Amino acid sequence: MESKIEWSRTRKSLFFKCPRAWYLRYGMRRKSSNRKAASFQRPWDLMLRAMKETLLDQLEDLKEGKEWSILLTENQLKSSLENQLSASVHHISEHTKEALLKFARSRYRLLWRTRILQQLLKRRHAQWYVFDRSEPILHGVRKLYVSPDLVIRIQNRWHLVRFDMQKSPTKAHDEHEANAMVFWALNHEGFNAPSETYRLHTIGWRQGFWKCDTFQPTSQSIRLSQQLLEHDMKAMEEIVQCGRRNLALLPLAKNKRTCNSCFFRKFCPGGENLEFAKKEQALLELSANSFKAGY
Ligand code: SF4
Repeated sequence: MESKIEWSRTRKSLFFKCPRAWYLRYGMRRKSSNRKAASFQRPWDLMLRAMKETLLDQLEDLKEGKEWSILLTENQLKSSLENQLSASVHHISEHTKEALLKFARSRYRLLWRTRILQQLLKRRHAQWYVFDRSEPILHGVRKLYVSPDLVIRIQNRWHLVRFDMQKSPTKAHDEHEANAMVFWALNHEGFNAPSETYRLHTIGWRQGFWKCDTFQPTSQSIRLSQQLLEHDMKAMEEIVQCGRRNLALLPLAKNKRTCNSCFFRKFCPGGENLEFAKKEQALLELSANSFKAGY
């Protein structure tokens, strides 16, 4: 039976860093609860999330013709950060909160100097929309979180824009991940167009400034991205099945740096000594296999 796999860039990134951490966070079945979910994310990641939340709120208001003053922007950023941190399972001192707010303010101010946001502020485009990336599209029983943050009509083309509050160094799969926004557009009436006519933009904070990458998809590149996405979800399904059979045999982190900031570290054999835990796991796997072969 197919598991209810959910694909997003964040989930994929954790999956490739550590399948066990991904399984514990996203792959395990959990009882539903109405309580506000506790956040396992690092305070730094919650700061990035607060920036994103503030950006989408500000864009929504801008669309309705309401411009934010500097004071309002700072207050909104602060309140969003406090709200995010209040759900954290980590202890966060006042000093850390202040430092996070300082980083957020500085990055956020620079973000509004980027060309696309300046064009919106100057009302250069008449047709544009803000979307919430937490709204998935359905792909069978699977959910894909692939929506752009902004969609702008410029000279008869749809420009799909995604903001990454922190971007990792340029990778070959950046283009495939950007292409995923086209799956979203093709699933939304009104934005449906031939693949070649879209323009894709990712605006991300990288090494001290906001960098904008632009991609032009083709039907071939879209097909390839779809295959890669299918491949990711199949691999995730296999890990879910493996985790249900035996949690102890789930692959551990590729790099011990991932363990340093992992919430599950205290309860994980890899948390103390990753290399040793991998050796122990290999022995365990060997004995599990020989047990199976003997019976
Ligand atoms: S402590 Fe390391 S190996 Fe264990 S779940 Fe976390 S990242 Fe993975």
